[in-house]
Amino acid sequence: MTRTALDILNTVYGYPAFRGHQAEVVDHLTAGGDALLLMPTGGGKSVCYQIPALLREGTGIVVSPLIALMQDQVDALRLIGLRAAFLNSTLSLDDVRLTEELLRRGELDLLYVAPERLLQERTLALLDETREGSGLALFAIDEAHCVSQWGHDFRPEYLQLDVLASRYPGVPRLACTATADERTRVEILENLKLGTGRVFVGGFDRPNIRYSVVPKDNPRRQLLDFLRDEHDRDAGIVYCLSRKRTEETAAFLSQNGIEALPYHAGMTADARRRHQERFLREDGLVICATIAFGMGIDKPDVRFVAHVDLPKSVEGYYQETGRAGRDGLPADAWLCYGLQDVVMLNKIAENSGSDDQPVDEMHRRRQRQQLDAMLGYCEIVDCRRQMLLAYFGEDLPEPCGNCDTCLAPPETYDGTVAAQKVLSCVARTGQRFGAQHIIDVLRGSENERIRRFGHDQLPTHGVGQEFDAFAWRSVVRQLVAQGILALDPEGFGGLKLTAASRPVLQGERELRLRRDVLTKTASRRRAASPAALTADFDGEVDAVTAALFDRLRAVRKDLAAEQGVPPYVIFHDKTLAAMALHKPTSGEAFLRLSGVGEKKLERYGERFMDVVRSAETEAG
Ligand code: ADP
Ligand code: ZN
Repeated sequence: MTRTALDILNTVYGYPAFRGHQAEVVDHLTAGGDALLLMPTGGGKSVCYQIPALLREGTGIVVSPLIALMQDQVDALRLIGLRAAFLNSTLSLDDVRLTEELLRRGELDLLYVAPERLLQERTLALLDETREGSGLALFAIDEAHCVSQWGHDFRPEYLQLDVLASRYPGVPRLACTATADERTRVEILENLKLGTGRVFVGGFDRPNIRYSVVPKDNPRRQLLDFLRDEHDRDAGIVYCLSRKRTEETAAFLSQNGIEALPYHAGMTADARRRHQERFLREDGLVICATIAFGMGIDKPDVRFVAHVDLPKSVEGYYQETGRAGRDGLPADAWLCYGLQDVVMLNKIAENSGSDDQPVDEMHRRRQRQQLDAMLGYCEIVDCRRQMLLAYFGEDLPEPCGNCDTCLAPPETYDGTVAAQKVLSCVARTGQRFGAQHIIDVLRGSENERIRRFGHDQLPTHGVGQEFDAFAWRSVVRQLVAQGILALDPEGFGGLKLTAASRPVLQGERELRLRRDVLTKTASRRRAASPAALTADFDGEVDAVTAALFDRLRAVRKDLAAEQGVPPYVIFHDKTLAAMALHKPTSGEAFLRLSGVGEKKLERYGERFMDVVRSAETEAG
């Protein structure tokens, strides 16, 4: 009997149904077609090439730049009974020979290879031989946006992957990425010679991620409060702009009882590997990272992604936040930003390039546009998700109901007079001072700097008593975001008037502003129960179930340590939660849990069911 794709999904992976475009892509590839697949992180790209590799004759070759993760990926596949291996520079020569031999003999379903490895003549010769012998089922090119010279992850080796098209015509190829950008899409199709392939674009919405933005006041304190209130003992990533900040933030969190580690390009490769390893293997660890961290991390239970500095672009931001909640359970994308971030990013944009290699004006303009879009996102008074998806060309007809502006719609007020005060103060002080000084003048401060410049003599001195400094900062930020004020391009933070200032100053334009508050927005506060338990279950989770869930997690932790794999490779939280709620005590019932296939039942069923049985007995 021939197996169908759905059979494999049910029995090997233990999932009841395909999601989104998965079934279509699987059919297309199995039938020998080429394709480009765009799907958000966590969308489920892997089964799209893994199942066709099982259905077709021969071995599926997966090209991936993520050497550090190959071992875990291969371990996870072996646990569900697939014959998988990898070839990269971390293997000993003996292991390389063994893997090559398995491939020649047709004893592998999937082989993961780093691009530079694949392009070596030795590997290509091996693939030639395999094609003539046991066969090549397909090529999957993961993280395909690395072929884009404009993108932030460009890898020159990717450009040479077009050799697969000329050398192995007839072997289907699937390029996968989570980057949606039109330009990247075109570059992938061209550079990988996927001309006639189909393009599958998955929806980019990640409804389980809650988006929120808070105005920056004391960022580390704000982060700590957020983590204490919402993410007790949860794993997450905190993105920072500089290496120094990753270290300071990690130290601060650790001092305050939240275990956190830094990760940035300035650390040794070994230290980076260790920290990444711990993040994957331990429960509830926080990583404070620059953007160098996270690509391809498929840890499914990252419960939050926090940004304590403003990201450079909406694309980058969406990709980074997409690393939260891949298991579909509730997760947070939390961003804390202030005017200083904008000053900083302006400066970086201005100084990118060097004397030898000046950055062209086009590139600089693009960076500014990206920053403007990011600012627009931060200051929006409507649904944040609608804006994010619109940015990627997707229309969300209704407000999402799961972002901060939907949950606690911001109050707006007539800010015309406040704006006029700021603009006129900027004009009278000569358009060269930063927000802090302007606010000091408005609030009537008598500090040394103000006296030295004679700004205590200005008519705008002291006219802004109605707001505190926090509220004034909010006004300035909104004026900058709306282009009514500009920051000096040199990156000193000086504020200048723009063409859009005049109508406001002259009272021709009314301005509505949002009233920022420092208090926390609607908190989800999940009582004592973890997200996994409450997500799929409306009603009180009883104490027995909650205790059982904890015990199941402990068993998983022991098993993971015994086998040297990350806990989620054994079972996802979602599967453990289903186990705690349904309390299966027979193989049949156990197999019905989402995420349990035949191999995992065989391997782990009894051990987990023992725990369920003893909990049942104790509960009487
Ligand atoms: P991507 O590579 O697109 O980021 P993955 O392939 O790692 O995503 O899949 C994300 C998660 O979703 C994985 O934990 C995977 O096991 C799970 N998953 C994939 N397809 C399905 C499905 N049809 N039903 C349930 N879970 C799925
Ligand atoms: Zn919303």
